[in-house]
Amino acid sequence: MNVIFMGPPGAGKGTQAEKIVSEFQIPHISTGDAFRAAMSQGTPMGIEAKGYVDKGLLVPDEITNGIVRERLAQPDCDKGFLLDGFPRTVAQADALSEIVDSLGKKIEVVINLAVDRSYLLARLTGRRICKSCGSTYHVIFNPPQQEGVCDKCSGELYQRSDDTEEKVGTRLDEYINKTAPLLDYYQKRELLREVNGEQDIHAVTEQISSLLRGLA
Ligand code: ADP
Ligand code: ADP
Ligand code: ZN
Repeated sequence: MNVIFMGPPGAGKGTQAEKIVSEFQIPHISTGDAFRAAMSQGTPMGIEAKGYVDKGLLVPDEITNGIVRERLAQPDCDKGFLLDGFPRTVAQADALSEIVDSLGKKIEVVINLAVDRSYLLARLTGRRICKSCGSTYHVIFNPPQQEGVCDKCSGELYQRSDDTEEKVGTRLDEYINKTAPLLDYYQKRELLREVNGEQDIHAVTEQISSLLRGLA
């Protein structure tokens, strides 16, 4: 199963991806996670990406496409993959189409997690992430059993530096201007399926999972 998750920042892509990759046993490819890992390691790519991520802007296409091109060529992607947060521009979608063609693969479905803008600020400012295993929580909507501590690995939870009210505004503008046009792009290619991301976490998982089981 070769799947793309789309949706605005805070729609629930990462949360749902954790569950879906565990059910379908496919790798989770998140360009946001790749940038955060490179930033914390201080690699040259990470240093360059940081200038954009810290401002809430999209990282340039050439850098982002390079990450995905390398990752999709790894042998574990032969059994399928879930792309979370890529593509985010029409140029990235065109590059992806070329990458999958060259590998003899094809995108089977694009799931759009539809969530109204009015939900997103609260979701993003309350988001907390485990430093050790990357699991996502929310202080109100999905709290850990013990405040600040990961249920799965007892790691410390932190808040992303771009999950502030100020950065969220810029990120939503980037989404509307550069990413939302992709809905039309994939609709025209008959790949787009919409899931209501405003339901509770469990209901959203059920809906995605049955949609994917129907395609498998
Ligand atoms: P994305 O990867 O699309 O930016 P996340 O999966 O990180 O979104 O979710 C953003 C925040 O909202 C997280 O704190 C997460 O726990 C919470 N969240 C995710 N899905 C839901 C939902 N269906 N209802 C309420 N909160 C949610
Ligand atoms: P969110 O949870 O808000 O959807 P991500 O973790 O996917 O955020 O991405 C965090 C940041 O990483 C983005 O604001 C952007 O700076 C950068 N980024 C992630 N994916 C891409 C992409 N496909 N193209 C450009 N920049 C990206
Ligand atoms: Zn953890």
